[in-house]
Amino acid sequence: MRNYFFFLFLLISTIASAQFDIYFENHSLRMDYIHSGNDKTDNYAFKEFIKEEKWGGSHTQMIETFEYGKYFVKVFDKNTGKLIYSRGYGSLFHEWSTTKEAKEFSRSFEETVLMPFPKNEVIIKLYSRNKSMTFDERFVIPFNPQKTFFEYKNDNILPVIDIHISGEPKKKVDIVILPEGYTEDELGKFIKDCHTLTNQFFAFAPYSQNKDKFNMRAVWIPSKESGSDSPRDSVEVSTALNTSFNTLYSDRYCMTLDYHRVRDYAANAPYDQIYILVNTDKYGGGAIYNYYSVSVSGNLKSPKVFIHEFGHAFAGLADEYGYEDSFENMYAKGVEPWEPNITTLVDFDTKWKDMVASNTPIPTPANAKYTDKIGAFEGAGYVKKGVYRPKMDCMMRSFDGDVFCEVCSKAIVDMIKFYSE
Ligand SMILES: [Zn+2]
Repeated sequence: MRNYFFFLFLLISTIASAQFDIYFENHSLRMDYIHSGNDKTDNYAFKEFIKEEKWGGSHTQMIETFEYGKYFVKVFDKNTGKLIYSRGYGSLFHEWSTTKEAKEFSRSFEETVLMPFPKNEVIIKLYSRNKSMTFDERFVIPFNPQKTFFEYKNDNILPVIDIHISGEPKKKVDIVILPEGYTEDELGKFIKDCHTLTNQFFAFAPYSQNKDKFNMRAVWIPSKESGSDSPRDSVEVSTALNTSFNTLYSDRYCMTLDYHRVRDYAANAPYDQIYILVNTDKYGGGAIYNYYSVSVSGNLKSPKVFIHEFGHAFAGLADEYGYEDSFENMYAKGVEPWEPNITTLVDFDTKWKDMVASNTPIPTPANAKYTDKIGAFEGAGYVKKGVYRPKMDCMMRSFDGDVFCEVCSKAIVDMIKFYSE
């Protein structure tokens, strides 16, 4: 019987792989665009199509079923109308649009969607969530590989350093590590930092049990100067990716607005996730779902920071903490948020309700009796009231404990399977 299931599995994956070959070449199509607007409206403007040599994604899991992310891209085969590829993602524009500044003026940000390179004409559609959390179609563009102009970038010549390789990119989670603020003389330090990051990452559950599902590669791009911009310390340096602390006016939030440049560099290796490693001891970092993660090398002394951040970028996990003066507009009342590890209890059935013991009350009181129980504890997603988290403590809430809660762990493992099966 076991053999039967094994062959059935083989057959299904062979058929799925054949589907990939019908529609796609093993290269990437990258669409760069500009996303602009303010707190009320937003606009998309196409910039360019780029063909990239490498595709690091799956050949079997073409449709994303998680439906995580503020935004979504869907690719349809023009002839049949069939959906052949989809992915969710987030962006810095979305975060900025929730700030005070966005009430005063409009601003533009670079965004990108990446997909395997289509063999035939396709229709690419971009979607954005509305207030009720359903997706609205916002931008539509055709792409014909025989007729549409695209730039072919097969001249990626930056050195790629293998840090941890466990198999073919199409069956693994491929992380590309990009150096930021490492000078020509600091290549040795960068490689050492990459190994430190990788070792610490794989020491942490559930990544520790899934080491063989990951590839880690580093691209070498020297910067003119060390470190990163830090406006509050009056530090401005010339670096490869132009990162800066104080992004969106939060001192520890270190991101870059030059997203298309990040994608140019990342394209040197096949990848699913981009990890920017900033050469500084100043505390900070940041991450957005299927966008990129940033860690400072100083975090390597406290690896929980970059493991926490990667939870956002890789598995779409929300922060499980609330602030005293809450961001009231972050999660609308009466609507279930999309993140797998927080709930407003509006549609708890779609979340982790099946993991809660029958004798645990919902909402769950935050007292000693329930310390180790899965429940729904109030205070998460930056608010104290109305948004609930699965456990008293978790890596997505604080660094007091040393583990992801069961709900976050499951979300991470499900995502690892999505990339590697
Ligand atoms: Zn959690």
